[in-house]
Amino acid sequence: MEFPLRCRCGNVQATLAEPQRAARAVCYCRDCQAFARFLGRAQLTLDRYGGTDIVATSPHRLRFTRGVEELRCMSLSEKGLLRWYAGCCNTPLANTPRDPALPYVGIVYDSLPESAAARDAAFGPARIALNTASATGTVAATPWATVAGMLRILRNVVAARVSGRYRDNPFFERGSGRPVVAPLVLTPEQRRSLYG
Ligand SMILES: [Zn+2]
Ligand SMILES: [Zn+2]
Repeated sequence: MEFPLRCRCGNVQATLAEPQRAARAVCYCRDCQAFARFLGRAQLTLDRYGGTDIVATSPHRLRFTRGVEELRCMSLSEKGLLRWYAGCCNTPLANTPRDPALPYVGIVYDSLPESAAARDAAFGPARIALNTASATGTVAATPWATVAGMLRILRNVVAARVSGRYRDNPFFERGSGRPVVAPLVLTPEQRRSLYG
């Protein structure tokens, strides 16, 4: 089964294979909040406590089928995660590490156009809350669910490494390992202005 991914205006489209192997979590960290603000999307992307719903999986399962030329990349600092979005309509799409040797992608939930019910059926309810200390309200930490989710992610990473599938990564050039779009790296001042 393939699950669709789409930016708000529909220019960028992709499919996500094996949704049942993904792990879903809500991240309350300041950097995810800053990314939503950078895109002018805080109202749409963040939940009422500043959380970003994320589906974590292996990059080889994600395949762009349309509008890849609209793909944009930014980072909040020289060493920060690469944060990918659609330049056509500023929809946040995904976060990846800087090094494709670590096969991980966190897909931002609002780039998945299916209904909430269809998404919940595919990925399960959001049971994991990460970085709750920086939530804008009181959010209970979920230590056991977090450990289970981490193990699931680790299993995906190891499987992609062992099978060699980690080389199929739509965000990086094969061979050079460079990001397919040069990241816009914010200055410390720009970053601070987004921390709110
Ligand atoms: Zn778009
Ligand atoms: Zn985060």
